[in-house]
Amino acid sequence: MDNIITISFDDIDSQYGGCTTHFTGIFLYEIKNKIKLIDYPLLVRLNPGIPWKTRGNASTALRFIYNNPDEIFEIAKNLVEEYINPRPPSPNKKPGIVVTQGKVWEEDNFKNFYKKALSDVVLLDEAINILEKNKALYYGGKGLIGATAAQGSLGLYEPYTFELIFYRIPDNWDKERCVRDDMVLKIEKSLPGCSINNYDYIKERTSVKPNGPDPILSGFRGSCEKLLWKYEYSLCETPHFALLFRSNQHTSYGLFNDLFPYPYRNVEIEGYVLNIKVLPKGHVIVSINTKYGIFDISLYKDTGPLNEAAKLLAKGDYIKVQGSVRPYFYNSNPTISAYSMEVIYVNQIKKTLSPRCPLCGNRMKSLGHNKGYRCEKCGFITKQTDKIEIKMNRKLLPGIYMPETGELMHLQKEKYTILPILTNFNYIDLNQIFKIYSNQ
Ligand code: ATP
Repeated sequence: MDNIITISFDDIDSQYGGCTTHFTGIFLYEIKNKIKLIDYPLLVRLNPGIPWKTRGNASTALRFIYNNPDEIFEIAKNLVEEYINPRPPSPNKKPGIVVTQGKVWEEDNFKNFYKKALSDVVLLDEAINILEKNKALYYGGKGLIGATAAQGSLGLYEPYTFELIFYRIPDNWDKERCVRDDMVLKIEKSLPGCSINNYDYIKERTSVKPNGPDPILSGFRGSCEKLLWKYEYSLCETPHFALLFRSNQHTSYGLFNDLFPYPYRNVEIEGYVLNIKVLPKGHVIVSINTKYGIFDISLYKDTGPLNEAAKLLAKGDYIKVQGSVRPYFYNSNPTISAYSMEVIYVNQIKKTLSPRCPLCGNRMKSLGHNKGYRCEKCGFITKQTDKIEIKMNRKLLPGIYMPETGELMHLQKEKYTILPILTNFNYIDLNQIFKIYSNQ
C-alpha cells in the first residue's frame, strides 16, 4: 500500500473533561472524506502503573492512505488547539501528536518503544530520538510518549480486542449516565466468548460507564466487532456518536516481564511464600522470597477470587505473580500490587499431635520431653514418646487466580477468551465503525 500515514495522539484531555479517544473520533470525522482507513482506529493502553496518567493511560492512532502528511499534521494541530482551549490541561500535561509515513509498526525502534512503554517507564527524550531518526512530524510535550508508543503498537499477528465507545451529547457531559444494567447483563449472556469485562458479577452492575464529566457514555469490550453493536440496546440516553476501536486491552500482550522489580514496572515474579497477613479491610499481604529478595505482594479485596485465593496460601507454597511495582518505602519490603497469581506448588502442611488414649480415645498430654503421655480423662499413662503426624487438608488448588470479570484492569486478559489476530490489513468501511446519532 502506498502513502501510508499513521497519526497518533495522547494527552488530549484535562481534569475538566475531554478525552483522547473522543478527540480521535472528532478528528476522524474531520478528515474522513479525504482518507482511506487501512485499520480500525486504535485504542492503545500503556503502563497502568504510571502515576501521572489521568485515567487508564490510553493513546490512540489512525492508519490510513493519503498523500499529504503535512496537511494532516496541520489539521490535527489546529483541531487539538480548538479542542483543549476551553479545557486547558493541567501544567504537567501536554498533548502529543505524531505523524509518520510507511509501515512504522514493523520498525524495531517503534515496536520496542511500544513494548517498553507497556511494562516500564520511558522518557520523553527516548521518544523524541526515535521521532527525529524517523523524520516524523511531531508536536507537543509529554503526550509524545504515548503517541510514539501507539505508532509501534498492534502490528500484524498481535492479539487484539475491540472497544465500541458511545460518546455523549455535550449538554449531557455533567449529567448522570443512563445505561441499563439489566440489559447489559442480558446482552452479555447472549454473547458468550465475545463480551469482555462488561459486567461486574460481584457488584451486580455494568463496568462500562466511567465516572466524571468526560464525553464517554459507555465503552463495550469484546473480541467480536459486529456483535458488540448489540449493546446499543442497553443505552437509555441518546448518544452523540459511536466509534469502534481495535485495542490491546485485555490481551496481556507484552505486559509482564521478568525484569528487576523497579518501581512502576509491570513484572512477573515468583517465589516461596514466607508469610500471609490479612488486613482489617480484607486486603491480603503475602511476603515471598524471590531471586531479587523479599517482596510483599498486595492482593486487594476488590480482586475477589484473587484475594480469596491469597487468604488460603500458606508458608512454603510457591507462587508466580503478575503485577505492578509500587514506589519503594523506607523500612518496609518493596511491594507489588498483584493483578493475577499462579499457584504453582501447594505445600503439604503437617501438624504433630500427641497420641490418643487407647482406653478412652481422649487426646493425651505430654509428661515432658521423652517421658511419655498421660490421659487427663481416665488417668492412663504410657511411656511411648512418638508423636502423631497428620497432613492438613489444603483448600487451595494449583492454578491461575484472577479478579472477577468486570474488575479486570484494562490490559489484563480474561482467562478463557480466545483472541483474534490480524494477518493482513484491509480497507475499513467507515459505516461499519462510526455511527452518528445526534447532530447537536
Ligand atoms: P485519557 O484516557 O483521557 O487520555 P489517560 O489516563 O490516558 O487519560 P494521559 O492523559 O494519557 O492519561 O496521561 C498519561 C501520560 O503518561 C501521557 O503523557 C503519556 O505520554 C505518558 N506515558 C504513557 N506511558 C508512559 C510510560 N510507560 N512511561 C512514561 N510516561 C508514559
